[in-house]
Amino acid sequence: MSHEMSHERAKRLVCTWLGLLMCVTALLLLAPRAGARTAPPATEEPVPVLGRTWPVGLRPLVVHAWEPPPTTYARGHRGVDLSAPAGSPVRAVAAGRVSFAGRVAGRGVISVELTGSGDPPLRTTYEPVRASAKKGDEVAPGDVLGTLEPSPSHCPTACLHWGLRRADTYLNPLSLLPPWLLRRGPSRLLPVPE
Ligand SMILES: [Zn+2]
Repeated sequence: MSHEMSHERAKRLVCTWLGLLMCVTALLLLAPRAGARTAPPATEEPVPVLGRTWPVGLRPLVVHAWEPPPTTYARGHRGVDLSAPAGSPVRAVAAGRVSFAGRVAGRGVISVELTGSGDPPLRTTYEPVRASAKKGDEVAPGDVLGTLEPSPSHCPTACLHWGLRRADTYLNPLSLLPPWLLRRGPSRLLPVPE
């Protein structure tokens, strides 16, 4: 009787240990995969909602949406294109400091480092823009940075290419804008007018 009981106990013990071993093995096998699933891609980092205005117009059409490239050197669209007539004022969307105002490959480019956006800071870029602001200028949301230049090679009609990046990571500039501003303007891809 006692012999049978201890045999049962031994069997239970073996089963318990086997169960534990399987459990640990399963955890070890699953752990790296679970970790990889929870780590978000760099392009999905959260962006603080610092924008207080659109950079052009009141309700600009988004004629070309944000298309992050799958890899650093792949093709993509690292910003959004907003339809606006050439000569339109281009405004700072958030408070910051002009970090670049000049020409790159024949196009006028202006960049603003955003106040309170971390380290390294978020940087918005606007092009093609004939800059009236200079490097080092402090700007408030809505301050005019310059005027939109014609951009025949980038959009079928005149448009502002608006970008956002932190160091070398490009982000979606529309994520700077609060929902009430996004609702006022169409934030989805719209057909390009002929
Ligand atoms: Zn563009």
